[in-house]
Amino acid sequence: MEKEAKIYVAGAGTLIGSAIVRQLRGQGYTNVLIDEPDFTDAFAVDSYFAQKQPDYVFVAAGKSGGIGANQKLPAVLILDNLLVACHVTHSAYRYGTKKLLYLASSCCYPKLCPQPMRVEYLFTGPLEPSNEAYAMGKLAGIQLCQAYHRQYGMNFISAIPANAFGPGDDFSLGDSHVIAALIRKVHEAKTQGLPFVEVWGTGSPRREFIYADDLGDACIFTMLNYNGSEPINLGTGGDISIKELAELIREISGYTGQIRFDSNQPDGMPVKFMDSRPLRELGWEVKTDFRSALKETYQWFRTAKPSCQS
Ligand code: GDP
Repeated sequence: MEKEAKIYVAGAGTLIGSAIVRQLRGQGYTNVLIDEPDFTDAFAVDSYFAQKQPDYVFVAAGKSGGIGANQKLPAVLILDNLLVACHVTHSAYRYGTKKLLYLASSCCYPKLCPQPMRVEYLFTGPLEPSNEAYAMGKLAGIQLCQAYHRQYGMNFISAIPANAFGPGDDFSLGDSHVIAALIRKVHEAKTQGLPFVEVWGTGSPRREFIYADDLGDACIFTMLNYNGSEPINLGTGGDISIKELAELIREISGYTGQIRFDSNQPDGMPVKFMDSRPLRELGWEVKTDFRSALKETYQWFRTAKPSCQS
């Protein structure tokens, strides 16, 4: 990928897309396109590709959310992600994109997947019911890349990121992912002097998290160094329980109240921890340690615009 190549980040407004854009610009790529045609409209996407003819495409578009959003909005999530995947990959094919990286999700792995999760475990068991619809949309994206590679010889690859977090995340209470939700809950409890914070589920599920900027860097690295037809996991090699996470956020924020668990709320997948050795063997390394990344995100939230906190 030449520094002056035309690189399109579809979904530049998302947490992951904006991190890819920051990293690309920071690494000296000079021709980064960030426009957002209506991805649900085949004609709009086709017209955009006809006009811009990007050389490289990162697909970070598509609606997503935490366990709450997945339960409340399955139709929205599957439809949006299917349309994004179909429209962007097909237009990239039609207008001769040299290489495309599609970003899937660790929800694509079966609910009771052996850990750490390896790409060969995809499609080997039922999905976690709470995020089945979203995961099916993302699995279709992986399959589209493989099909366009097989039938048309397109260099369309896919990657499965660990749970991303960082500045610019969605900090709404109902739809966000766990780190953003807990940062907000703990900060509000601290500033309002509340005696406890309620954390969903039992606290026992384990998750692997990746800082958005590190993920952006991993995506560029993957675009430059990976050409396999199987997806590649983009993880950090470490996981943490939700209980430990809540304690860490409490400590970083300086909140002295209690953490309580609401086991009426769902846990989702018991563990999500990916085998990212293939990525490391290619030479990629995590840049930001988890604690500093959480601190950065907490600092960002404290100074963020209220529109991010509805
Ligand atoms: P998941 O990885 O798809 O399950 O996505 P989430 O980030 O939404 O949730 C991760 C875990 O954190 C699940 O076990 C949730 O039950 C737990 N969790 C605890 N409190 C919260 C919260 O306030 N919001 C969210 N989204 N998850 C929470």
